[in-house]
Amino acid sequence: IRWTEGRGWHDAQLTPYGPLSLDPANMTLHYAQEIFEGLKAYRRPDGSVATFRPDANAERFQKSARRLAMPELPVDLFVEACDALVRQDKAWVPAHGGESSLYLRPFMIATEVGLGVRPANEYLFVVIASPAAAYFPGGVKPVSVWLSENYVRAVPGGMGFAKTGGNYAASLLAQAEAAEKGCDQVVWLDALEHKWVEEMGGMNLYFVYGNRIVTPELTGSLLAGITRDSLLKLAKDLGYESQEGRISTEEWKRDTESGALTEVFACGTAAVITPVGSVKSAGGEWTQGDGEPGELTLKLRKALLDIQTGVAADEHGWMHQLG
Ligand code: PMP
Repeated sequence: IRWTEGRGWHDAQLTPYGPLSLDPANMTLHYAQEIFEGLKAYRRPDGSVATFRPDANAERFQKSARRLAMPELPVDLFVEACDALVRQDKAWVPAHGGESSLYLRPFMIATEVGLGVRPANEYLFVVIASPAAAYFPGGVKPVSVWLSENYVRAVPGGMGFAKTGGNYAASLLAQAEAAEKGCDQVVWLDALEHKWVEEMGGMNLYFVYGNRIVTPELTGSLLAGITRDSLLKLAKDLGYESQEGRISTEEWKRDTESGALTEVFACGTAAVITPVGSVKSAGGEWTQGDGEPGELTLKLRKALLDIQTGVAADEHGWMHQLG
């Protein structure tokens, strides 16, 4: 779907997959007006297909668009575009049974040609899709994380809450540093004090204190994950207390060592829920749990996947059924 200044959204088209042709002076290539989303379509036991909370992705896409001075795509157009692609590619949605899905990647770029820093006057919204296998084919494996103090992902007033490529470019070097330290993932801390835990590579974090789960509050510099939001609600349904709060790296270490913090996990569309098994930082390292995923981690993971794959009742009306 295209957007042109003065005309708005127009020319929705379903076309075969293929390269985009871009002028070398395309404004996105120089000034990075680009935003994207990620969501999944799952096959249900009766063979039908449904996407998980596409309206939530559409709303986040609007917030990202506002931050990058791009036009907002109406929620219904976003959802209709995803629906049209899933219907077209329905055969590519894997069979019900595992955790496989059809991953959808909606994105928007500026298409105006010109050099000069200002919002473009033409944009293109596109959705592509790819079948996604279970993230952990061998079962859920705890990941090791590196607390990044040298690099920050986002700053107050910046673009951290937006899903834009620049945030991911900013994360690559820190991810490489995490790998050098022998860790699977980087954990981002706040930009001012390098003390407050924000999020993991492409996932939000949860801290389990007995029957209370806490996730870092939305400060504006982390992404408001849709999985994160769903788990705040789902944990309550299961009789746990769930809340947003602030967790410092010292508390993380201290509460793990005292036994008060029983499990830590990360959550996002790609891996659903992933336990954190060990933590390394310039100031020390510690083990989280006994090398196996925690009990609540697995319980929440199953509760969420059961809704997504159509095995459990969808009490919150999260599934968008496509027939
Ligand atoms: N944080 C970041 C930086 C991400 O890229 C993602 C993945 N979109 C998440 C958190 C988790 O968000 P969601 O649950 O919407 O996938």
